[in-house]
Amino acid sequence: MYYQMFGLRLAYKAHMAVGGKQGKVITAAIATTAAKVDEHVLSDVLTQHRQTTRLPIREVVADAKYGTMDNYLSLDQAGMVALIPPHERHGEPRGIWGRSHFQYLPDQDCYLCPAGKVMKKIELNHHKGRFIYRVEKGSCRSCEYQAKCSRSGNDRKVSRFIRQELVEAAKERLTSPSGEAIYRQRKTLIEGIFAQGKQWHGLRRTPFRGKWKVQIHFWLIAAVMNIKRVLKEVGEKGLLLPGPNQSSGQLPSANSPRSKANAILISFGWIMA
Ligand code: SF4
Repeated sequence: MYYQMFGLRLAYKAHMAVGGKQGKVITAAIATTAAKVDEHVLSDVLTQHRQTTRLPIREVVADAKYGTMDNYLSLDQAGMVALIPPHERHGEPRGIWGRSHFQYLPDQDCYLCPAGKVMKKIELNHHKGRFIYRVEKGSCRSCEYQAKCSRSGNDRKVSRFIRQELVEAAKERLTSPSGEAIYRQRKTLIEGIFAQGKQWHGLRRTPFRGKWKVQIHFWLIAAVMNIKRVLKEVGEKGLLLPGPNQSSGQLPSANSPRSKANAILISFGWIMA
């Protein structure tokens, strides 16, 4: 598939997860076409992580591309903690007041606009997983704040996720000291792995055409990177299984507390063809 951003070139996306206590092991590597929407890949990444590690996931740390209502809901239902900023597709509206100027009243499930008018829930946007709120029809046309608040005198609308509390909880976690730390860690660890993959393992460009060929290429790269990391650990820490004449060093067993992964860090990058 050709992707405009790169001037009509063939491109794929590489979604990767790392786990382990120090986030050094690649536990999922999924290649998709450029057209596949990132947010839809999260469940595949989690499934592959589980198949690889056979370990439960407690926290999912990922960037805003994965921060959709569907993903918050599915993580919540699966008992996983989301450390993912919400994906605000359009951000705050340009040139007019943003959502922070509107006060949500939880008891009445409505908003108060800056002029003190009630904005009632009028519809559900299934695709975006958001409820839409609006002032009474025609209210904005005669409002003194119209220039700052509403484009062309149209009735102003604001939206709210169907389970906004999940979004707020994720935002709160991300602003806590531990949340900030793990999110920073995600950036350095997984972006570092992507950088290494591109620089030394051919992840920047694939010689193959077709999603499955690119997928196999990506798995092989991930496997090689993991093996190199294991060898480095073994070499540095002397974690060797004792041979017939050896008495020192042992690899940790799959059930040892050290091997229990409970956070998974996720990101994606581009593979050019
Ligand atoms: S423009 Fe509409 S939404 Fe904005 S303050 Fe006035 S009445 Fe309220």
